Amino acid sequence: MTTLTPVLSKHWDQADSFALETYRRNGGYEALRKALRMAPDDIVEMVKASGLRGRGGAGFPTGMKWGFLPKDNPNPRYLVVNADESEPGTCKDIPLMLANPQVLIEGVIIASYAINCNQAFIYVRGEVLHVVRRLQHAVAEARAAGLIGENILGSGFDLDIVVHTGAGAYICGEETALLDSLEGYRGQPRLKPPFPAVAGLYASPTVVNNVESIASVPGIVAEGAEWFSGMGTEKSKGFGFFSLSGHVVRPGQYEAPLGITLRELLDMAGGIRPGHRLKFWTPGGSSTPIFTDEHLDVPLDFESVGAAGSMLGTRALQIFDETTCVVRATLRWIEFYAHESCGKCTPCREGNYWMVQVLDRLEHGKGTEADLDKLLDICDNLLGRSFCALGDGAASPVMSSIKYFREEYIEHFTGGGCPFDPARATLWA
Ligand code: NAD
Ligand code: SF4
Repeated sequence: MTTLTPVLSKHWDQADSFALETYRRNGGYEALRKALRMAPDDIVEMVKASGLRGRGGAGFPTGMKWGFLPKDNPNPRYLVVNADESEPGTCKDIPLMLANPQVLIEGVIIASYAINCNQAFIYVRGEVLHVVRRLQHAVAEARAAGLIGENILGSGFDLDIVVHTGAGAYICGEETALLDSLEGYRGQPRLKPPFPAVAGLYASPTVVNNVESIASVPGIVAEGAEWFSGMGTEKSKGFGFFSLSGHVVRPGQYEAPLGITLRELLDMAGGIRPGHRLKFWTPGGSSTPIFTDEHLDVPLDFESVGAAGSMLGTRALQIFDETTCVVRATLRWIEFYAHESCGKCTPCREGNYWMVQVLDRLEHGKGTEADLDKLLDICDNLLGRSFCALGDGAASPVMSSIKYFREEYIEHFTGGGCPFDPARATLWA
């Protein structure tokens, strides 16, 4: 039986857990003192050895990304924390920044020192004003304590951190659109390669990391690479947040080793709400193909979830019981992607618009079987043919819901409407 590993969330229940004083009382900033006595390259090697993989969804090895910064580029280097968490169902970075912004700031300072950068940015969603204020307050507290600025803790290392707010576009969570937005342009993805590590902010070498990835760094420095790599699975090391939402008794953040299963997480979360049963769920937000009750025992690590036909993504476990219409849920997700598509490439801009039209008529009992082929055809033109991951992500819920619930789609047009519509009520009888 896997047990929870509260590390980042360990002190969330303390009053003023966000305050610098509380963080220091709990051992905060000891990792920074240790890091500043180490050679920067040794910290990069330590993070590589820990096996930490990007917690923003893609799972790219963090230490390797740091190691990609070209040594011969004379431009300044930048660290940009992607705090633009927006994936439907994803809700881990925002509570982390609210409850313990100092662990993120300590991680930013250590990471900046390791990659030899003197200017870092935290790009945060503009809508979450309370988080923006908390971060700004935390940066000010750290600056007043000499943890940000010139000659940090007498080390000779200088760093400034700017908290920058986005304007509420999902696409600005895509790292290159985020960089455009940070530079003051309309946020649209750039062609990759070159990756930001080579040409990022102001065409300079830039590391873009997720909040949870950077917040994991102080623990690795304090406890050692083996401590972190001793948790998780062979290729998916360490722990992470699993965010349970929807039809569960106790939704919330469950910090656990990678490789835990939904069955185990549901046991901890009190199970599906009483009198109901699991119907479908997302392992990592709506951009990852849905799973069903067949997948309760799939270890939630990058490899096992991939082998079972989905992606670990952001570990946003949206749980739906048997009262949920899968067509309606899929329509809702695709309305989101259609709204958030930046419009740069045709497959995504047009594909999402047309998928909404087709799903809407299916949901309202006006579709035909040919519409299912049409949806799959549109997905075929999105998947691998879109400019960025948003297009691929939009195809995921459509393809997987048809794969597992084709009969339910058919029931909508053979039965004259949504079987979950109380007016029709076939499934409620
Ligand atoms: P990606 O695989 O293209 O890149 C992942 C990271 O690795 C990037 O930082 C990229 O620059 C770096 N990288 C990859 N190859 C590299 C190379 N050869 N050299 C240097 N750097 C390299 O994935 P992505 O498009 O950045 O992200 C997609 C993921 O984002 C999805 O899996 C999804 O789960 C996640 N996502 C998260 C949110 C959220 O709110 N957190 C929202 C939408 C999507
Ligand atoms: Fe923009 Fe969508 Fe194309 Fe990404 S896939 S560049 S969001 S239109």
